[in-house]
Amino acid sequence: MTLKRVHHVVNRPGRKKGHDDVTIQVADELATVPGIPQRKQDVDFYSRNYPLETQNIEKAADREWTWTVYTGEMYEYRKHHDKVNKPLVDAAFVSGGVEPTGDVVAGKDVTDEIREKARDLGFGEVGFTKYDRRYTYKSKKGWAKYEHAICLALEQDYWQTQTIPSMEAEFAHFGTYEEEGGYALELADFIRSLGYRAQIHSPNDNSAPYIPMFVEAGLGQLGANGQLLSPHFGSRSRIFIITTDAEVTYDKPIDYGFHKFCEECQVCVNRCPGRALVKDKVWWRGAEKHKLMYDRCRPVMATYEGCGICMLTCPIQRYGAPAVMEHFVETGNVLGKGTDNLEGFEIRGKGYFGPGELPSFDREFFDMPHGTKDEWLFDQFKKKLSEKGAASSEEAKDFADELTTIITEETGYDSGL
Ligand code: SF4
Ligand code: SF4
Repeated sequence: MTLKRVHHVVNRPGRKKGHDDVTIQVADELATVPGIPQRKQDVDFYSRNYPLETQNIEKAADREWTWTVYTGEMYEYRKHHDKVNKPLVDAAFVSGGVEPTGDVVAGKDVTDEIREKARDLGFGEVGFTKYDRRYTYKSKKGWAKYEHAICLALEQDYWQTQTIPSMEAEFAHFGTYEEEGGYALELADFIRSLGYRAQIHSPNDNSAPYIPMFVEAGLGQLGANGQLLSPHFGSRSRIFIITTDAEVTYDKPIDYGFHKFCEECQVCVNRCPGRALVKDKVWWRGAEKHKLMYDRCRPVMATYEGCGICMLTCPIQRYGAPAVMEHFVETGNVLGKGTDNLEGFEIRGKGYFGPGELPSFDREFFDMPHGTKDEWLFDQFKKKLSEKGAASSEEAKDFADELTTIITEETGYDSGL
């Protein structure tokens, strides 16, 4: 048995309120930096010169297309979810303007009270940090009001998640959004009762990518699957933030060893049916990370009930970080790697795939619309012009009408996922 030297041990509260604290051993060779390696000046440069935009706008063309490849059952379920979820997204959108209901106790730090309330509601991870405006989406620049971010992760059901990709797993995925939308309203009300303001940044109408703030608040590190790996449930959670002007104390980023562990593990990279994940990290907008190939992922996600095989096959999701990191210290191996238990999955209509086996798809399978809806509309219109040489006045009018609809939609917000 190889016993590796332990560089440091991370102590974290239990997965749920009332559970014992856990310890995570980080082997010497897995230690890097707390959070994620970053070049601050590059993050500043990219956010200033190339601000991010929400996928609800930037990738709206393929998001709309996904509805055309859903199964009938998925289509009906998504319609149902969007209907149930819309009031929660709407309430979040206007939450920043709601007045406090209680009085501030001058000089009192309310971090512990908010954390306690969030844990009572069932959030598995709760952390505090600055709302980092460098990540705010272009369309949300004037919307985000307050300076502190409360990062909240709600775990989705373990066993439903292990059936990925399936409708059962989608019930867990979208059901968790519905649940946390309600908890968010309750937690915001609680913050207002302490005399402060609270703005809910819905997970379905994001103001920014939230993962960098979760990492900064010490709630996990970024995995090779492009998701937040939190110590208890890997990426088996739905995340969002509440910003506030309350008196709070920030948490600090933590090195759980995941940044380096992903290089040893690579299970999600090898198991991704779309070959959308890459082995090596790159420097991207000032952070060192694995960059997912969106165009290879999206068609698989859309066709096969959200896919999520990169979540399913992650040992940290399956077994939790304490067991995975202890196993690494004791053996130098990745827990479950190479076993059907961790790596096996079934794809509707294609069968079961064990370690080393992957489904194949035709080239056309990856064809889908690209960009924003107006970019895609222009592309299609240009194609029509080049094919026919001219557009009829009716076609030109249709084009103008469709463009007007798109522009009107984009000046509001979109609760689509
Ligand atoms: S969701 Fe599926 S296709 Fe997309 S990266 Fe994960 S495993 Fe690959
Ligand atoms: S499967 Fe392995 S490589 Fe992928 S995110 Fe999880 S720990 Fe990292």
